[in-house]
Amino acid sequence: MTSFATRLARGGVIDADPHGATSPPLYQTATFAQADATSFGEFDYTRTDNPTRRALEELLAELEGGGRALAFASGMAALAATLRLARPGQRVLLGRDLYGGTQRFAERFLDGVECAYVDLGSGELAAELARGDVALVLFETPSNPRLEITDVRAVCRAAHGAGALVAVDATAMTPHLMRPLELGADLAVHSATKGLGGHGDVTAGVVTTADAALAERLAARRNAEGSALTPFESWLLLRGLRTLSVRVDAAQRSARRLAQRLAASVRFRSVRYPGLADHPASAIHRSQARGGGVLVTVECASREEAIALVEDTRLFTTAVSFGGVASSISIPHHMSHASAPEGAAPRPDPTLVRLSVGLEDVDELEADLLSAVNGTISLQVRSPTGCRP
Ligand SMILES: *Cc1c(COP(=O)(O)O)cnc(C)c1O
Repeated sequence: MTSFATRLARGGVIDADPHGATSPPLYQTATFAQADATSFGEFDYTRTDNPTRRALEELLAELEGGGRALAFASGMAALAATLRLARPGQRVLLGRDLYGGTQRFAERFLDGVECAYVDLGSGELAAELARGDVALVLFETPSNPRLEITDVRAVCRAAHGAGALVAVDATAMTPHLMRPLELGADLAVHSATKGLGGHGDVTAGVVTTADAALAERLAARRNAEGSALTPFESWLLLRGLRTLSVRVDAAQRSARRLAQRLAASVRFRSVRYPGLADHPASAIHRSQARGGGVLVTVECASREEAIALVEDTRLFTTAVSFGGVASSISIPHHMSHASAPEGAAPRPDPTLVRLSVGLEDVDELEADLLSAVNGTISLQVRSPTGCRP
């Protein structure tokens, strides 16, 4: 059994490469020559399959603990493919706190499929499952942006008892910290744009499942629609993945320390980090994941204070997305979740600020945050150009 770190460090190398390349080669080609007019070789057309993408998918599947991984053009393409496993007339149950784009797709574009937001930790789940026709239960844990925790094993037991599939969007964790398939889920979904890529330069998504028939259904549709990840982005993602464990471990250490420091400030109504014991579901989280991740949220006293905090930090870029080497800060209400339809699931409150902790020097990150919290801008801590990033 090779360790996660070893698999990562040596991942993506194509054994059959004729030149013995020691890092993943980029097959930037749309077509592959055929030996004759009537037979295909191993690869024929990149929309269907490509050696670089396949190397990426084999590594991603290994990281999830087995099965087959499919790389998509974005996290949303991966989630759309997953949600559309539900057929018209069937129902989908969704966690209450979800990425805004996932809500938008589920509410507006899943024709003929009824979606309901459910408190998955309550009796509501059993009641909704008992109504029948549930094809899929989909949720995030920790959720974006509220960092709510859902007990993956418990949801799987209930859903499987009712014949429903379970899909976990584990973007906030990456497979380095949590592997939903090992907890019983049928599908693990990620926006690889976040921690998996880790450098803020790739838009990508992935779905992994141990169910071969389900994987084939997803692959056939992806081929028909052309929503697979391009060779170049597959290659970039492979490059980012090779340092996944060291990146996540380091950023997570910093996130934990910053969460503790922020929690000590009287300026916030609450500070939330799944790796701290005062998170309301820290025990469940600890039972299914290896650490709290890189996201910290703070609830400010007012929307003005939230805006001031976001604008006064210098080392945290004001930007959507998370999980990159550069730290960022956002107000999900105005940014990542602005696309969520108003109504069925409440939008995150404008006082909620989400921090994504990266790989900068943690002392500098802490000084920057504390100076913004205290309403003064430190002169020592600036971005290298001295300008706002
Ligand atoms: C960003 C995000 C997505 C969407 O992924 P894209 O790569 O932006 O399409 C889905 N789920 C979660 C939890 C996310 O954070």
